[in-house]
Amino acid sequence: MKTFPTGLKAKGEMVIRCHLLAVTLDLPARAMVMNMKQFNGKFGCCYCEDEGVNPANRPMLRYYPYTATSVPRLNEGMINDARKAATTGEPVKGIKGACPVVVLKYVDLPKTFVIDWMHSVLLGVVKTLLSMWCDASYKKESFYVGDKMALVNSRLQRIQVPDYIVRQQRNIDDHKHWKGNYCY
Ligand SMILES: [Zn+2]
Repeated sequence: MKTFPTGLKAKGEMVIRCHLLAVTLDLPARAMVMNMKQFNGKFGCCYCEDEGVNPANRPMLRYYPYTATSVPRLNEGMINDARKAATTGEPVKGIKGACPVVVLKYVDLPKTFVIDWMHSVLLGVVKTLLSMWCDASYKKESFYVGDKMALVNSRLQRIQVPDYIVRQQRNIDDHKHWKGNYCY
């Protein structure tokens, strides 16, 4: 990867300088770019050094429960682990080798690779809540509103957002097909 510490000359005297502020990627792409194991592999979390828990008979699943002894990943530690992995050819705490963006000296890996809001929150938490509120399998629960869809839809239709927010309001009946931008 090539860097341009003094910027790039454009037309005439114009100099363009770019600074990487944040990287947001879905989990498979993030693992690839960070040169790490995927979220379902041991030590696949890029924010902590936990091994994670793999439930029996669910080889594709791994979760990272909070523990008081969790060790957060730090930029320096990640770079050292990448060096060791490059030397030994074996992953170190899930890190398989150098992440290309470390050529930018100011980058702090765990801070620069931010949480993927669309998949984690909108398509994760919000979609889970929607299914719990609306799906008939939860009809005995106090939070279930699947029997009040018309009322919910009429209230959703009345919400007004500023014109700079691109948002199409959909009926909640169709929540299974909602994309991320319907969920905020
Ligand atoms: Zn973690």
